[in-house]
Parts: sequence; C-alpha cells; structure tokens
Amino acid sequence: MSGLTLSHVTKEFGTFKAVNNVSLSVPDGTFVCLLGPSGCGKTTLMRMVAGLDLPTEGSITLGGEDITRVPTHKRNLGMVFQSLALFPHLTVGENIAYALRIRGASKDEQKKRVDELLSMIHLPGFSDRSVNKLSGGQRQRIAIARALAISPKLFLLDEPLSALDAKLREAMQVELRQLQQRLGITTIVVTHDQREAMTMADTVVVMNGGEIRQAAAPVDIYRRPADSFVADFIGSTNLIPFTTDGKGEASVFGSSVAGLTLGTTRSGTISVRPEDVQIVPPAESSLAGKVTFVRDLGGSVETFIEAGGQQIVAVSAPRSRPDVTVGQTVGLRFDPETSVVLAR
Ligand code: ATP
Repeated sequence: MSGLTLSHVTKEFGTFKAVNNVSLSVPDGTFVCLLGPSGCGKTTLMRMVAGLDLPTEGSITLGGEDITRVPTHKRNLGMVFQSLALFPHLTVGENIAYALRIRGASKDEQKKRVDELLSMIHLPGFSDRSVNKLSGGQRQRIAIARALAISPKLFLLDEPLSALDAKLREAMQVELRQLQQRLGITTIVVTHDQREAMTMADTVVVMNGGEIRQAAAPVDIYRRPADSFVADFIGSTNLIPFTTDGKGEASVFGSSVAGLTLGTTRSGTISVRPEDVQIVPPAESSLAGKVTFVRDLGGSVETFIEAGGQQIVAVSAPRSRPDVTVGQTVGLRFDPETSVVLAR
C-alpha cells in the first residue's frame, strides 16, 4: 500500500501515554495537519513518523515498507522545525545544498538544484547571500527549500510558521499549500492554529489527550464535528443541551423546536454555529432570549443573547444585521440542517 500508514501507534513516557492507539492513513500526495491544544501529542506523533522517537506499540509504514524502526536518515524525509535551524555560517546556497553535498552530489548538480529550488520559492539569485541577513519569511522559505532538496518522499513540518507575524504567516500558509500541490508531495504539518490547518490541509487531524478525535476534510470538521471538543476547538460554536420526548421531537431550554428532530436520543448536546443562529421576532419562534450585547466588527456583527441561562451568539453579515437593541426579547431559530448532534 502506498502513502503513510500509522497502525495502533502508542507512545508512553513512563506510565504516561503521550500518544494513545493512533491509527491514520495518509494517501500519497495529500496534505495533513495535526491540530490540537498544547500537550495533546502532535509533536510526539510527528517525531515517531520522523524516526526521532520509537513507538511503544504499533507500526508505521511508508510506501508499503515498515519503517517503524528505520533510522531517520534512511526514511527519505524532508523536515522543517519551528527553530528552522539554518546553518548560520553557510550561505543560502550552501544551506540548501547541504544534504546533496553529504550525499556526494557534484558541484554542478548542487548548483542546478539550488537554482531550481530558489526559483521555486521565489528567491532567485539569493544563493550567495548570508542567511543571517534574511527576513523571517525568507528564512522560512530557505528552510523549506533545504528540506526539499533531496526530493523527499515525505515532508514533515512542526509549527513551521509560528515565529512569523500574523500577516506573513497567512501568506506563507497559502504559499506552502500551493508549493505542496505543485510538487504533489505527501506533507504533514503540526500546528495548534486551526485557521492554519483549515487553510492548508486536505485532512485535518484533531487530537486531544494523545488520541485522534476526528480526521476529516476541513469543511467536514467544521460542519460535522464528531464531538463537543472538536466543535468547540474548530471555530466558535454554541453548545446547547437538548432533550427529546423519545419519539424524535426535540426540546431546547424546555421548548420544543419545530423541525429539529433528534431521533431516539433522549438528551445530549447540539452544536449550532453562530452564523446558523437566526434572530426572529418572538412570535415566530418558541425559543426566546434577551439581547445582552451587540458587537460590530465591521466585517460581521455578533449578537449575544441570553436564553435558558446560557449565552448564545449569533453572527450576521453587516447587511443583514438584526434590528435589535440590548435588553430586547427576541426569538431564536436554528436550522435543523446545520444543527449537529454531538457524541457524548
Ligand atoms: P505543543 O503544542 O505544546 O508542542 P504537543 O501536542 O506537540 O504540544 P507533545 O510535545 O507531543 O505535545 O507532548 C505530549 C505530552 O507528552 C506532553 O504532556 C508532554 O509533556 C509529554 N512528553 C513529550 N515528550 C516527553 C518526554 N521526552 N518525556 C516525558 N514526557 C514527554
């Protein structure tokens, strides 16, 4: 089987399971982001893929070959870490050619590849510059080019953009994704930034407590979160308790909600994204609440409503801004299509 496959991978440090029974299949040429809060095990998982740590249990295959115990330098990987670790005493060209030189490539081969990579990262002519005189974004690109010099089978990046300021970081996310698509290289990025993951990945793998909570396309993670952790971690959402009468009719805050049928589940939580909460006149909904705050962010308007002892947030575009004031009683509607019943 091609691609990268992790089967029941566990990593224990003493009695602590940093990664717990993780199975994941990464098809060739796809871009995967490992996403989760600090300490969830992303880096540990990545280090096992890189061969920098041995799993306590489980196996890892790449292109059908079991690489669980293959040393890092024999895995044909390109790696970029947050620190970048460019060699400060070498020029840009020497940095990029480093792995080629170690592998015995001729001077001509090295120069040709360096020129090719520099043009690919939009820095042609930079070969003789000192790496110490580059901007953050340029250093980032050089680190990427250096990792790609040997045409690796797998490209691994651990928080590669976290040292950059917000604007540059967003631009680099798009650039990295475009580069990956052009090269068709299987890529895994560790990040704790959900926007970054949503921007770049074919598959977002959401982790918590050493386990995978959900692995799916960005839009599915957002629209169909598997549980309340994922729903809350990805974007913002309203987590609302519900009960049913056992026949499917659902009640929220003690009122039945027309059109919201929740099967035979007796109680649980639904996730409703703020953009899916509609504010309507009280007569048009059995669900009522009181407006407590309105925040106009220019590009969107957020209305905070207290209903059933909890805060609900509704987001609308400025043009469809609800005509409400603080203290006003309003009706609320959730579209059953976009209300997701979460696993407990
Ligand atoms: P961050 O975003 O903060 O880097 P992470 O999701 O990458 O977090 P890991 O670095 O994989 O998390 O760490 C997962 C857990 O394993 C943490 O609780 C960490 O303290 C623990 N851990 C990691 N490496 C070791 C080690 N060598 N010895 C003991 N515990 C470790």
